[in-house]
Amino acid sequence: MTLTLNGIGVAKGIGIGRARLLQHGSMDIVQYSLPAHYLYDEVGRYRAALDTVKIQLQATRRKIPRNAPVDIVALIDVHLMMVEDSVFSEGPVHHIEQQRCNAEWALHLQRQSLVKSFEEMSDPYLRSRMDDVEQVANRILGALLRDASHPADYDGLQGSIVLADDLSPADTLLLQHHGVRAVVTAAGGVTSHTAILARGLGVPTVVGAHHALCYIRHDDLLVVDGDRGVLIVEPDARALRHYRARQREVRREWTALRALKSAPAVSRDGVAVTLEANIELPEDMAAVRKVGAVGVGLYRTEFLFLNRDGLPDEEEQYAAYLRVVRAQPGAPVTIRTLDLGADKHLDGATVGDGRNPALGLRAVRLCLSDPALFRPQLRAILRASAHGSVRLCIPMVSSVREVRQVRALVQDCQRELSAQGLRHDPALPIGAMIEVPAAALIAGSLARHLDFFSIGTNDLIQYTLAADRLDDTVDYVYDPLHPAVLRLIGAVMRAAGRASVPVCMCGEMAGDARYTRLLLGMGLRNLSMHPARVLEVKRAVQNADVNALRTWVRRIMRAMEAEQVSELVDSLNATS
Ligand code: PEP
Ligand code: MG
Repeated sequence: MTLTLNGIGVAKGIGIGRARLLQHGSMDIVQYSLPAHYLYDEVGRYRAALDTVKIQLQATRRKIPRNAPVDIVALIDVHLMMVEDSVFSEGPVHHIEQQRCNAEWALHLQRQSLVKSFEEMSDPYLRSRMDDVEQVANRILGALLRDASHPADYDGLQGSIVLADDLSPADTLLLQHHGVRAVVTAAGGVTSHTAILARGLGVPTVVGAHHALCYIRHDDLLVVDGDRGVLIVEPDARALRHYRARQREVRREWTALRALKSAPAVSRDGVAVTLEANIELPEDMAAVRKVGAVGVGLYRTEFLFLNRDGLPDEEEQYAAYLRVVRAQPGAPVTIRTLDLGADKHLDGATVGDGRNPALGLRAVRLCLSDPALFRPQLRAILRASAHGSVRLCIPMVSSVREVRQVRALVQDCQRELSAQGLRHDPALPIGAMIEVPAAALIAGSLARHLDFFSIGTNDLIQYTLAADRLDDTVDYVYDPLHPAVLRLIGAVMRAAGRASVPVCMCGEMAGDARYTRLLLGMGLRNLSMHPARVLEVKRAVQNADVNALRTWVRRIMRAMEAEQVSELVDSLNATS
């Protein structure tokens, strides 16, 4: 029977394929007692499941593409080690024998006691390994249940639709190499890093589909409508025809957009706009070139630190930054210093682990508290700056003091590099993300210490409206068109204008063509976005008459409610 479910569409397009369930949080585990003479076989069944998982992990390890981040191999090695560790090889066996229970229940008991001991650990690094323990336990459970809905590796995902309770940014990064047709998660907000990365996969994605895992079974045929945030389970022939036609339409539109690759991003009345790209890894530069973005407006360097044990040293970071700089000679590259914390967890260092990580020791706060983490990155960025047009951008700035501290450290590293005879740009431009309301409100003071601003609307909206960007239950609060958000952006534009400081916008708002006219009318001339969005935004720029937008924008800025703003933006977009 056909069933329609709703979520939040975060990456456009239509995906049609068979469902593969990736995570297993909602699985029911049945407990039953076994007579003593069955226990030997039950232990054998458990050990066979361990062997299956080992074989699957080894097979996955062999098939990792050469260009995948090295850390993926390391992650799989950690999982292999865990399977062989006594916590999994002996603990559940002990439960089977002592409790005379089935292997699934024994594994469940072992998992519970592991969760408890991890929760009691004070070391945040060790605590962060809990995710790996969960993943390994899920793999074993999947093998025990011999249930194909628990693929123990990512190999069988080619051409399928991936469903999960949630995906960490690290998981999503792994998916990049497996040719999935669509992604659906039960949790997640529009600008969670998982959603941002999923957009990077270039596949239709729906998050916040709460009940998807209750109704969708492994191998069900699914249609994922990433434009409307709709899932259709077991569509009938008519629905399939309709969506296949939509798929063809999307392809036609994409072909038309591709023709804009080399066209200038200039409005009808001759206003030039710089369209840059956001990247997570050097590999993303292929996509940047493909759409003709003029440079990198945001390089999220923290992704080099995910999915691995230990930190990349200065040389490894330098090599990564250099790859980006060399991928598009002469193009500007804005390298953002580490923005770890909140939903991006580091596996190998002391990351602030407060109860409210988005408000905790994140980004520049973490870096300033840990020079051993920060200095190698600053040195690597400075060394890369000798080879191209590099800019350094500081995330999550909330005070002038932080900027001063970073500048002092940069100067120190510059002196050190000069003394060592290592080349670097002595006038490296330093800017900051304006993504905390405090930074927007003191933009005038910050401008005296910075060479550019980069407005990060993802966090600016989250912090202004006190709505967690990862939490789909407050998605209705998280609104880019809330008058408070627009007023803060307006204040930043005015302060930057007075100080002649260039402004870029690199949050997801910059890559949504629905907002292009509004942003141009507010004075933005530099937008940075996921490569997949560049051509659509370019078309919106080309269709806009910037002079005519100003009157609209004045009306929009006077609006008192988000709904009113939304209507005005739609009317503005409907004008020719
Ligand atoms: C932002 O907050 O808008 C931004 C671009 O940074 P990130 O999404 O990486 O937090
Ligand atoms: Mg941010």
